[in-house]
Amino acid sequence: MFPAFTLSYSRLPERFYERFEPVPVREPRLIAFNRPLAEALGFDLAAFDAEEAAVWFSGNVVPRGAEPLAQAYAGHQFGGFVPRLGDGRAVLLGEVTDRDGRLRDIQLKGAGRTPFSRGGDGRAPLGPVLREYLVSEAMHAMDIPSTRALAAVTTGEHVVRGIPELGAILTRVAASHIRIGTFQYFAARGDIDGVRELADHAIERHYPELTKRKGGERYLGLLESVQARQAALVAKWMGVGFIHGVMNTDNTSISGETIDFGPCAFMEQYDPQMVFSSIDEGGRYAYANQPWIAQWNLARLAETLLPLIDDDTERAIELATELLQRFPERYDEEWLAVMRAKLGLERAQPGDKALAEALLAIMHRGRADFTLTFRRLADTAENREAEASLIALFERPEDIAGWLEDWRQRLAQDLWAEDERARRMRLANPAFIPRNHRVQQALTAAMDENDYGPFETLLEVITHPFDDQPGREEYTRPAEPTERVFRTFC
Ligand code: AMP
Ligand code: MG
Ligand code: MG
Repeated sequence: MFPAFTLSYSRLPERFYERFEPVPVREPRLIAFNRPLAEALGFDLAAFDAEEAAVWFSGNVVPRGAEPLAQAYAGHQFGGFVPRLGDGRAVLLGEVTDRDGRLRDIQLKGAGRTPFSRGGDGRAPLGPVLREYLVSEAMHAMDIPSTRALAAVTTGEHVVRGIPELGAILTRVAASHIRIGTFQYFAARGDIDGVRELADHAIERHYPELTKRKGGERYLGLLESVQARQAALVAKWMGVGFIHGVMNTDNTSISGETIDFGPCAFMEQYDPQMVFSSIDEGGRYAYANQPWIAQWNLARLAETLLPLIDDDTERAIELATELLQRFPERYDEEWLAVMRAKLGLERAQPGDKALAEALLAIMHRGRADFTLTFRRLADTAENREAEASLIALFERPEDIAGWLEDWRQRLAQDLWAEDERARRMRLANPAFIPRNHRVQQALTAAMDENDYGPFETLLEVITHPFDDQPGREEYTRPAEPTERVFRTFC
């Protein structure tokens, strides 16, 4: 069933990982399988059998050609450095080459205790596995770079997180699992050769255009490329109201994909200070902080690369600093591009940023739902009658009515026909996001009643985020006060 493995991480030096076989589970049962993704990865599905698949995706049998390992990494967690984290519950089976010729990691998350587990049990409860499945697939469907979910199995064993819960394993697919924390692992040990080998490996995989560069230019180029991808990624998160929740350096991917969906959540009422994660007591990873946290994380990456950038440390610091200081400008460009698309603006104009910020300020004051505001704005772009349903989202209708006048004046400067603009706006403004209460309901039904219907329906809905889905209007609705999710857990 598995395609041939193209081993690459396991060819790196032994100190990059610990070889480790998944710990078998009692009663694996396949609860979700991503057939289109499996096909894109080259899986042979001709004789697909759910029972057999459960054996593979639980790690009970290791596919031929795989060389399972747990990756070593370090990381800053909420600002504090931990020199040895590593995969405490994940195993990389290896890489496969997908139909587009791209190398993709296949990892089992929740596969048992590894040499990096410390006090942990190496397992994952069903709830977080389903949350990651839903949210990562929704992100991908919204054109936001993300790891993917290939399969989920329950283990038939219980994990204890306060109360006993059913255990599960997620098969995750990523461009790679190299994190900023992976660089920090070697840098913290003074292992400059390790940093260099990792950097060269990351360049070959993610930024092959840099391979022809020599010396310090190559590693400065890596920093610049990762910075560009992170700026673009976070701008896209901001554009859908996504709050990652745990933007530690070990959860920041070098490839620029969203990775490690823990207590992540989507905003409903717009509030830049919004935090959902139960462990983020200080609000470090609040919505509006995300770009600046990304920049802080990039500075941690830069520190690891200094010895490769220039033998003269002062010079290396100067070059890296100059680059990092360009992050705000870079991020602003990406964010503005996202907002222009959301507002249906064709050609860049000087007042666009102020127009976007004015809308956000009005949304904040008016407690408007982030997703619905933009989707109804798209409807309004071709149908004036939709304006009433947009204005109804705001507690202070006069503010938004005034802004709409400014917006229409601005639109008059562009050439797009109204229907063309509305069409494009609908592709930038999802109708369906994984609303937190819906995710919660899907998880609860699965956990408490072994009912995967709500999970399957929600998955179907949110993987077509830009389509109007007649009959599914219920899924566009924000939580009622009694349904509202205030805290999320990992
Ligand atoms: P995360 O919060 O998932 O980003 O994980 C942070 C670190 O804790 C990583 O090194 C994980 O591998 C480790 N970890 C998280 N949960 C467990 C667990 N149940 N058992 C062992 N290690 C874990
Ligand atoms: Mg080793
Ligand atoms: Mg993590």
